[in-house]
Amino acid sequence: MSAFDNALNQLSRAAAVRSFPEDFIARLRHPNREVRAMIPVVMDDGVTKMFEGYRVQFNNARGPYKGGIRFHEDTDIEEVKALAFWMALKCAVVNIPMGGGKGGVTVNPKLLSKGELERLARGFMRAFADVLGPQKDVPAPDVNTTPEIMMWMADEYTKITGDTTGAVITGKPIANGGSEGRGTATAQGGFFVFEALREALGLPASCSVVIQGFGNAGEHAGEIWHNAGHKIIAVSDSRGAIVSEAGLDPKAVLAHKKEKGSVLGFPGARDITNEELLALPCDLLIPAALENQIRADNAGAVQAKVILELANGPTTPEADDVLFGKGIVVIPDILANAGGVTVSTYEWEQNLKQEHWSEADVFARLQTKMAEEALRIAARAKELKTDLRRAAFVEALERLEKAMRV
Ligand code: NAD
Repeated sequence: MSAFDNALNQLSRAAAVRSFPEDFIARLRHPNREVRAMIPVVMDDGVTKMFEGYRVQFNNARGPYKGGIRFHEDTDIEEVKALAFWMALKCAVVNIPMGGGKGGVTVNPKLLSKGELERLARGFMRAFADVLGPQKDVPAPDVNTTPEIMMWMADEYTKITGDTTGAVITGKPIANGGSEGRGTATAQGGFFVFEALREALGLPASCSVVIQGFGNAGEHAGEIWHNAGHKIIAVSDSRGAIVSEAGLDPKAVLAHKKEKGSVLGFPGARDITNEELLALPCDLLIPAALENQIRADNAGAVQAKVILELANGPTTPEADDVLFGKGIVVIPDILANAGGVTVSTYEWEQNLKQEHWSEADVFARLQTKMAEEALRIAARAKELKTDLRRAAFVEALERLEKAMRV
């Protein structure tokens, strides 16, 4: 099953909990627009190579399309469609004035030099500039894309259009119009959701935490949970995982990863596989890597009490059923990782108003929003006698339907 099949399956499952007009649900099964482009990049050896890029604009009933750009060798239009769909729902879950979109390029960026990466980023913007814009579609970072890449794209957009607001793209460096707090916003937002729900979920004040994927979202999650007094017992990256029941210091693990290229071999910890990591007994499991990690075939082995999805689409619908049967609560991606797009929207707003908000201001707004929506969805799940994912979908679908009906 592709990520998009899973996304549509989730939609059907939510629509079975509370009935919606059939034509509305049918419309949400298709994106408004899919754009594909071949991006020529002159490589360092002088040879031109072609890369395939995508932008999917799923739904803009609630505002301009919004969603990250992913650089990954396995990225394709189906994956980008799924991610764009989830963005439309996510923006509605946290009630920000944005629609859903997503972009990607099929590329392994680790094989590119810095110059080649910059030419690819600028080439992406040249290929898609006519469908992007502060009032049309506002991209952001995702897997393997950084503030620097966002800035190259913003600069290219300025050259093409003359627009100097920077509001065409978010996740820029702070010196270039980026927002305070954007770098850590996804993990920080997830933490605010966790804090709002922790007691009701029966979790202790100090939890044991396992993190799959030690990239932007995962690293910051490690630090935030660690600083709040929780114990990070295992983390992983694409090469493997490490575990230490005594607890890991995320800062030291990050320094080790920067030096060695992986978390593997961290002194004092044991190397294990990613499959073993998912099966560790813990209070909280945080998937922060890619889609389809917890599936029907491995969900039975999960021993976490609660799963908080910082990644998009890490749990398949079949795995949801297995986890539900085992009494494991899943805090769904469209709520748990919505802090990223929320602070991205704050960045867009600051750019348009030519303002710069303090980090304290950004996080105060973020905390209020994430806690409010988390409690609303938990209450909705109780009322509908369903899981948090279906409740979050229902909340989002109601907001989308209202906007689309008018
Ligand atoms: P990233 O590229 O910074 O990090 C991804 C990490 O996952 C890397 O450490 C990589 O080694 C690891 N990884 C890849 N495959 C793995 C595997 N099979 N097992 C274990 N680890 C693996 O990307 P990111 O921005 O942190 O994004 C991670 C997830 O969070 C994605 O699903 C993304 O869509 C989602 N997300 C990110 C943001 C954001 O603001 N960055 C916002 C919302 C959601």
